[in-house]
Amino acid sequence: MNCIFCKIVNGEIPAKKVYEDEKVLAFHDINPQAPFHILVIPKKHISTLLELEERDKELIGHIYTVINRVARDLGFDEKGFRVVTNCKEEAGQTVFHIHFHVLAGRPMDWPPG
Ligand code: AMP
Ligand code: ZN
Repeated sequence: MNCIFCKIVNGEIPAKKVYEDEKVLAFHDINPQAPFHILVIPKKHISTLLELEERDKELIGHIYTVINRVARDLGFDEKGFRVVTNCKEEAGQTVFHIHFHVLAGRPMDWPPG
């Protein structure tokens, strides 16, 4: 499959990993939009949020506990951070393997652009 994040999971493309377990991987975004910009992904290929199924509930819950852990490990838990998932083109999704952007290290605007 020609998916860049599956290639990262399989070790075919390098990434600066910050967390990994059997089901989830977290790594630095290649084009950071904040002092900290981490992507958290399931190792299983799911193209968008709309492809999530009932059986993925536990996986998505687990991803949030990984985000919690990464925030503490990297030290941006105290000031806070933002979690974003873009779903399809109009939201700005460019990589069609579901991912959770974790942005931190600067004040965030609302509404987002
Ligand atoms: P989105 O636009 O929500 O689909 O986000 C995709 C993100 O993946 C962007 O922030 C990209 O900078 C990031 N990205 C693309 N290729 C890589 C890569 N090889 N390693 C790390 N991050 C990447
Ligand atoms: Zn994939």
